[in-house]
Amino acid sequence: GLGVEWALLWIRLAGADIAENRSRLSELDRAIGDGDHGENMARGFAAVLAKLDAEPAPETVGDVLKVVATTLMSTVGGAAGPLYGTAFLRAAKVAATPVDAVGVHTLVDAALEGIVARGRAQVGDKTMVDAWTPAARAAQEAADDGAAPAGVWAAAASAAQEGAVATEPLVALKGRASYLGERSAGHRDPGAESTALLLAAAARAAQ
Ligand code: ADP
Ligand code: MG
Ligand code: MG
Repeated sequence: GLGVEWALLWIRLAGADIAENRSRLSELDRAIGDGDHGENMARGFAAVLAKLDAEPAPETVGDVLKVVATTLMSTVGGAAGPLYGTAFLRAAKVAATPVDAVGVHTLVDAALEGIVARGRAQVGDKTMVDAWTPAARAAQEAADDGAAPAGVWAAAASAAQEGAVATEPLVALKGRASYLGERSAGHRDPGAESTALLLAAAARAAQ
């Protein structure tokens, strides 16, 4: 299973990937929103990494995810802050230490449920839900097929990336992008793309 060292590595890799993709994420948000998604996420993850470095090392996966949740909620702002904050808080509550293959699915599912409870978006509304939903389904299938935890994360990550790409033709029905109506079609949703980055980092950390 995946222990606290995995969780710390996940979040460190995620922070590095978000920082590296900061301008690309803001570019996506510039096309259909207010252009701040990369800055919002980079600011949030920089604060998360600073907090993890400053505090005594968390002892459980849930404790790591709880630090992520509370820090993102207070530093990211915008729509994404409360949504990712709720996602990580729900994930923290269900995470066992270590996380086994079924546990990976449980964690992704809890995150998705938190995002939907908070934002009320449905599949096809062109939001991060369009990346988390296929990720949860793929994680369930991989766990049912007997994959190891790393394989379950890999399945979730590739489904999230496909889900993010699949937001391109959609018309946004939630968030700022919905103000554009039909003009939101033809652009990838930035929150779906940042979700794909986060899940890819979890998969890489599990290898
Ligand atoms: P803001 O739109 O407030 O500037 P961000 O740019 O940081 O916030 O985040 C925008 C992302 O938030 C969108 O790309 C979308 O994925 C996500 N989002 C917005 N509203 C919702 C919602 N109601 N449910 C799920 N995700 C949403
Ligand atoms: Mg924005
Ligand atoms: Mg904003």
